[in-house]
Amino acid sequence: MRVVRTLSEMREVRAALRGCVGFVPTMGYLHEGHLSLIRRARAECEVVVVSLFVNPAQFGPGEDYERYPRDEARDLALLEREAVDVAFVPTVEEMYPPGFSTWVEVTGPLAERLEGASRPGHLRGVATVVLKLFHLVQPHRAYFGEKDAQQLRIIRRMTSDLNLPIEIVACPIVREPDGLALSSRNVYLSPAEREHARALSRSLALARRLILEEGMREAAEVRRRLQEYLRAAPGVTLDYVSLAHPETLEEVERIEGPVLVLVAARVGSARLIDNALIP
Ligand code: AMP
Repeated sequence: MRVVRTLSEMREVRAALRGCVGFVPTMGYLHEGHLSLIRRARAECEVVVVSLFVNPAQFGPGEDYERYPRDEARDLALLEREAVDVAFVPTVEEMYPPGFSTWVEVTGPLAERLEGASRPGHLRGVATVVLKLFHLVQPHRAYFGEKDAQQLRIIRRMTSDLNLPIEIVACPIVREPDGLALSSRNVYLSPAEREHARALSRSLALARRLILEEGMREAAEVRRRLQEYLRAAPGVTLDYVSLAHPETLEEVERIEGPVLVLVAARVGSARLIDNALIP
């Protein structure tokens, strides 16, 4: 595996690559969720590039950029084991040199709600770094997790709007046996908080039951039941519950087709998100 740390070396290495290039952008501190994306890329592409970069531009003031977990040596060993061809580990200084002032911003309903409302600047930071990484790596395919449902849709929108010749591949959420979605931020949880965090995936199971078994059709009613459940859950501070159109992410009123249920909450010092598509 080649470990590339500068932008110029990445361009050089890319120019020499042949065949279909699959790319998995990550912030490192890898877990089975990341590895599922990497394995999918490995199965579908001749060359696999994975980036490890904790992107300061997608963290707001007072968020967890400084203490975001990092373990580069472990990440590189994992990538090696997955037969990744290139690990791209750029520096903040090179990605955001002094004077950096160009931003990619997806606007409109897709970006304004949910994470866009709770974390101002976050999605702009994501779109900007992903476009920069796309230019440097020039992949044919890029792999993203459904775990970050809004991010995935923002990237699809940007890729289409800016005519990038890249296929965006969505991969299912990988969960712990008890339902908790894997996340690098789960390390923030104490053993008690880890128990409390189960409420998120449980609330999604509740939504599934209300809609599919009880036949509830009023989205507001389902939303209210999930809010009640999460507000009563010990150790959980609710941010939002949304029943959204799976593509546009606009809030639905009547449930008449597939609906994406999204939840965000704080558990201890960790802000957690989860979602499920109810068919
Ligand atoms: P991150 O390192 O958190 O920026 O995530 C990098 C990529 O891994 C993103 O496309 C995430 O959606 C994806 N990812 C993170 N957690 C999971 C998970 N539990 N299951 C599937 N994909 C995930």
